[in-house]
Order: sequence, then structure tokens, then C-alpha cells
Amino acid sequence: MGKLICMGIESTAHTFGVGIINNKRNILADARDMYTTEKGGIIPSDAANHHRKLKYEMLNKALEDANLYIKDIDFIAFSQGPGLPPSLLVGKDFAKELTLKYKKPLVGVNHLCGHLEEGKFFTKAKDPVFVFVSGANTQIIAHEGEKYRIFGEALSVGLGNALDKFGRAVGLGFPAGPKIEQLAKKGKYIEIPYVVKGMDVEFSGIVTHCINLYKKGVAIEDLCYSLQETGFAMLIEVTERALAHTGKKEALLIGGVAANQRFIEMLNTMCKERGVKSFACPLKYSGDNGIQIAIAGMLQYNSGYNIFKTKQQIENVDINPNWRIDDVETPWMKN
Ligand code: ATP
Repeated sequence: MGKLICMGIESTAHTFGVGIINNKRNILADARDMYTTEKGGIIPSDAANHHRKLKYEMLNKALEDANLYIKDIDFIAFSQGPGLPPSLLVGKDFAKELTLKYKKPLVGVNHLCGHLEEGKFFTKAKDPVFVFVSGANTQIIAHEGEKYRIFGEALSVGLGNALDKFGRAVGLGFPAGPKIEQLAKKGKYIEIPYVVKGMDVEFSGIVTHCINLYKKGVAIEDLCYSLQETGFAMLIEVTERALAHTGKKEALLIGGVAANQRFIEMLNTMCKERGVKSFACPLKYSGDNGIQIAIAGMLQYNSGYNIFKTKQQIENVDINPNWRIDDVETPWMKN
């Protein structure tokens, strides 16, 4: 097989990224820029303006880094959803503009699928139970019956956002996760609620409970320690049950919270006890980026899923802001 080159465009939330890879597993470029605010919350229209302003700069940087012209790109993949509509629209319009202008096929990628495939790409995991824990997302996912399926998830707020919410309330700034990890090293356990409902987890009540204890004068180190131990243990419990149910022999931690060493240690311990291998996606690739879209795009292109080739097909492509991972077909997972 000759060399195939794919450009991936990421634009679901705060990051605009253009990544380029080839089918020999080489990363050729990873240009990205993240919209940030003082307070940490995203204003969707501002994020979209950021993306609109930077899209050509990111494209040119990626092509320069890869030492390629756009004509050398064989096809373009873009994040079609899920995400914030104003951000998604910028990526979609840009991908359509480029594919129509340069007559290239277009591939629509599910953003979560990008995270999952990227995790496998950068580790030795082949068919793991994914522990996906970012700011907004907390989901335990595994491939079963030809699709990725969600086995358990956070019912209200994701763990990263829960830690950030606690951090904001107690004056730790944003993002609070890394600071909580440091403070927790000096803390001891105090009892706080542990909320697992079936296969789902619920963090918002725990955070409120901890904020109230802080107001009553409980030491911040003890709260950080207890919040971490409890939140992580809840997820490890659900992961262990997903491993038992699916019979899979690998667990893979992805998302920004995977930076937490205590979390990695707890996952490793559980996996070791079960005779399961555990992996964590390298931090550099845990956040949103164009490479993840290119990786999933390459798999889709080679297996013929969600590809738009003619002018008319491309013109009709739209975003899918609520695209669930269990609605994604995965023909590349067939043996
Ligand atoms: P999403 O992709 O779900 O929209 P996001 O892009 O904000 O969310 P990531 O960049 O993957 O998510 O992760 C950011 C989150 O990870 C933040 O909530 C941050 O507090 C948390 N985080 C980062 N480092 C650590 C750490 N060492 N311990 C715990 N949490 C951490």
C-alpha cells in the first residue's frame, strides 16, 4: 500500500487543532491552539471566534511542520460532533471549504471516538475498557457487539469539572485538578458520601458536601485527599465491573484527569489484582487535538465509514452536536 496522508481538524469546544498523520503511523504535524478565559468557563461564541481567527494560521503551521503542500493531503477528517455547535460549525465549514476547493474526500469523525482510537494508538492497548475522564466527560466505555458502548457514566458533572468546581469554591483557581493532587498528599481520610448508582456515578452531591465541610473549617488537605480517594474509587469500582462483564484484559485511562498519579496508581492496583493490563494515554495527547481526528479518520477512510466524496455529498454534510459514541459504526474493529 502506498502512503496515505490524512489531515484531521478538531473544533468541538475550546481547542482548534490541525493534525497530519500518514498510514505508516507517523505524526507529521500537530498544530493546536486553545481558547482560554480568566475564569475558566467557555463562552461558546467567543470560542468560535477564536477558531475562526486562527484556522488558517493552524492550517499553515501544520503544513509547514509536515513539510507538505495541501495537494499532498489525500483526505481531510473533521470532528462532526459531539460538541458546542458554534465551535463545531467553524471546523465543519473549514473542512468543507478545503475539500471542495482542493477536491479531496471528507470524513466525519466522532470526537469521542477520536479520543478512544488515539488512546489505543499511543499505547499497547488493543481492545480495552476505557476509563475516559476529562473535564466534562466521565465515561467507562468498551467495544462490544460491533460498537463502542458506554457501561457507566457520571450522571451530572464529570469528575474533572467536579474537582474544578470544588477548587473554585475553596479558592484554588482553575484548573484545580493538579492543585488538589498536590494538597491531597498532605491530607488524611474523612468520611464523605460515596455515590455509585448501578454502573453510574454522581459527583455533584459530594462536591457540595465537601464545600460545606470547608466552610465549617475542615482542613483543605483532608478534603482534597478524601475527594480524590472517593471519586477515583467510585470509578475504579465501575471499571472493575465493566472488566468482569466484558471479560476484557486491558484498561486504558484517557482524558485530562489521567494526569493524576494517584488515579493511575489506584487503577494499576485494581488491574494487577485482576490480572488485567493497565495503560494511560500520554498526557501530551490527552487534551483535544487534530491528531486524534486524523487517527480515527484514517481508520474510517480505510474501512469506508462516513466518507463524503462528491461535491453534492460534501455540500450536504452537517454537524452532529449530540452524536453519541454508541451510534458510531466501527467497521475497522472487525477482524
Ligand atoms: P472535555 O474534553 O470533556 O470538554 P476538557 O477538554 O476541559 O474537557 P481535559 O483537557 O481532557 O478536559 O481535562 C481537563 C480536566 O482535567 C480539568 O478538569 C482538570 O482539573 C483535570 N486535571 C488536570 N490535571 C489533573 C490532575 N493532576 N489531577 C486531577 N485532575 C486533573
